[in-house]
Amino acid sequence: MRLRKMPAGWQCVWRHVNAPPKPPVGSPCNGCGLCCLAEPCPLGRLYSRRTAGPCVKLRWDEGMGRHVCGAHGV
Ligand code: SF4
Repeated sequence: MRLRKMPAGWQCVWRHVNAPPKPPVGSPCNGCGLCCLAEPCPLGRLYSRRTAGPCVKLRWDEGMGRHVCGAHGV
């Protein structure tokens, strides 16, 4: 598959097809995955060794039907 170059300020993320939609701002995390796919949190930066792009610790939980953080043994 050939990917087109993204315009400045845009980012493409690949998330699970069954992931829930992004919740409204201020709502609790629902596992949509978008935050952790866009850039790692401070802990994720240590694991991922980068400050942009998807976190290497993000996992898809089929039973829960959501993305989960793998940095805490979940
Ligand atoms: S998957 Fe966990 S460690 Fe990685 S960015 Fe998300 S919350 Fe942080």
